[in-house]
Amino acid sequence: MVSLKRVTKTYANGSKALVDIGLEVKRGDFLFITGPSGSGKSTLLKLLYGEETATQGEVVVDGCDLSELRGDRLSLLRRRIGVVFQDYKLIPRRTVMENVAFVLWAQGFTRKEIHRRLQPALKMVGLVHKANCFPEQLSGGEQQRVSIARAIVSTPPLLLADEPTGNLDPDNSWQVIKILKKLNGIGITVIVTTHDESLIRLSNERSVQLRNGHLYRPQS
Ligand code: ADP
Repeated sequence: MVSLKRVTKTYANGSKALVDIGLEVKRGDFLFITGPSGSGKSTLLKLLYGEETATQGEVVVDGCDLSELRGDRLSLLRRRIGVVFQDYKLIPRRTVMENVAFVLWAQGFTRKEIHRRLQPALKMVGLVHKANCFPEQLSGGEQQRVSIARAIVSTPPLLLADEPTGNLDPDNSWQVIKILKKLNGIGITVIVTTHDESLIRLSNERSVQLRNGHLYRPQS
């Protein structure tokens, strides 16, 4: 599903965010990318959803070489990748249901198809009863769960979550990880960045560590 070969990312200001990274993630895998702030975690995910391009090396996602993808073909690949951010990025004046429906509407799904997909997505994150609430009426954990529903409502094969628990207390963090594991259980490949080692221990999933842009695998 994801293959990085000898990938380096140097930003225009000379900042070396990633250095000679090699990583393979198979379809159906669950992977944590851990590491302190500034170690390159967000940059790595940005390369995967085409927000940034690698300075050197090869990034292949779902069979597409990202260095060769532009315009429409990049947009098509992005539709096949769900992304969750630390700060939820919900539309404030739209209800939970509208926030989740918006992506489908933007992708040209019919009204009937949107309705067919909304309920299972909200059910997956346990928020059917909050469908008509506005984001400000929800807790941080609930808002993050809405953003997960939005990320998976178009049934992408790959879900990327960038510090999804960064603003949450331990209970809500664990709830979010449990939902991500559940999504993985139905076949979605999940890649999560976090600086919270305790979550990784608790969840018992594979992890790799970034330090100063270098990737390390735990000894086992
Ligand atoms: P993390 O997600 O682990 O906190 P980042 O990927 O955000 O790390 O950042 C890795 C390094 O790249 C840091 O030194 C950061 O300052 C730098 N960096 C990130 N984004 C940019 C950018 N747009 N321009 C220049 N440097 C950046």
